[in-house]
Amino acid sequence: MRIIILELKDIAEIRADFPLLSKKVYNKPLVYFDNGATTQKPQCVLDAIQEVFTSYNGNIHRGIHAMSDMTSEAYENARERVRSFINAARKEEVIFTSGTTGSINSVAFSFGERYVGPGDEIIISNLEHHANIVPWQMMCQRKGASLRIIPVNDDGEILIDEFVKLLSPRTRLVSVTQASNALGTIVPVGEIIRIAHSAGIPVLVDGAQGVQHDVVDVSELDCDFYAFSGHKIYGPTGIGILYGKQKWLEELPPYQGGGDMVEKVTFEKTTYNELPFKFEAGTMNFAGAIGLARALDYVLETGRKDIAAREKMLLDYATGKLAEIRPLKIYGNSKNKISTISFLIDGIHQYDTGTILDKQGIAVRTGTHCAQPVMDRFGIDGTVRISMCFYNTLEEIDTLCTGIEKVIRMFS
Ligand code: PLP
Repeated sequence: MRIIILELKDIAEIRADFPLLSKKVYNKPLVYFDNGATTQKPQCVLDAIQEVFTSYNGNIHRGIHAMSDMTSEAYENARERVRSFINAARKEEVIFTSGTTGSINSVAFSFGERYVGPGDEIIISNLEHHANIVPWQMMCQRKGASLRIIPVNDDGEILIDEFVKLLSPRTRLVSVTQASNALGTIVPVGEIIRIAHSAGIPVLVDGAQGVQHDVVDVSELDCDFYAFSGHKIYGPTGIGILYGKQKWLEELPPYQGGGDMVEKVTFEKTTYNELPFKFEAGTMNFAGAIGLARALDYVLETGRKDIAAREKMLLDYATGKLAEIRPLKIYGNSKNKISTISFLIDGIHQYDTGTILDKQGIAVRTGTHCAQPVMDRFGIDGTVRISMCFYNTLEEIDTLCTGIEKVIRMFS
């Protein structure tokens, strides 16, 4: 009941924070259901980025002048806000990267260099986005190691018993997504971490589809690494986070070399800077970092538990409405899901559905969602995906259903 009141009372206010949501497409109000790909940005984030370049822009950690000092301070302040948002123990454990992909590639390279050799194994799951497959594959090829895959059941849920069987003395690391971008499945990462740790194996969590939907506390989770992207949590593109426990980050070699990640450079030898700078080579995307911190503040102001409750309400409503549409099949029926639904309409190709919905102003994603192996698992070459977030409305779900009925009529 409380959620419904929230729906009636606050939603107009929330939507007014996002300038793009009032846009029209083909002269129809935009219904934006592609938040899993990227989210829209609230005005406060746009303002924070503009302020960097109109009020204090200077390169970070380099100059002794006021502009550089102010930018460095804002950048380090952003790091502290990220630390607090994910409850990392130390600021030094928060590395700015270009996004989830950048974060995972960085760990795959550095961890591989330090700890992986011929015959070793890395465990991932059948649900992974290509960003949590390909970097490990590349590392395995370099090091003579191999990938082991946790299977999923017909509802798209991870089979924990099968995971346990995959653990071996050759396992070096487990890397799993917190939630599937393709099916919406929420993965029991806490349980996976406990099991892996009891065998002494570290775990990376791909939080690209997790961090924006509920409270994430990396200390409580006890993950060794956590990765996410700014643009999927209402922040700018080109910025992301790699959280790593200090003990790992101290031991791992840097992924990239360049300015600022060094302590002393001679032609004979280079010593590296302390954490977190050891992993931040070159001019960082400081405007992105500052924009991301503002986005996280916005999420906190909105209330993470309220966001989670509202998105659950949207998920339940949309699932019920879509289930009423007869020739439509939902892929991914996990008991725990983020507000993402994948489906196909019998006899109608996903691109046709997506194209016709687009002409009605409804933005959905079609295709494999950069998760081809999970599409193969279900014997399909793609789906239509709606990925909702807290600024979406019940009315928009109704518009989607009307749009889908129109698609079905056109093809019947
Ligand atoms: N992991 C998951 C689960 C994703 O959904 C995505 C993007 O959709 C990524 C990783 C890659 O994120 P990015 O492209 O922002 O690096």
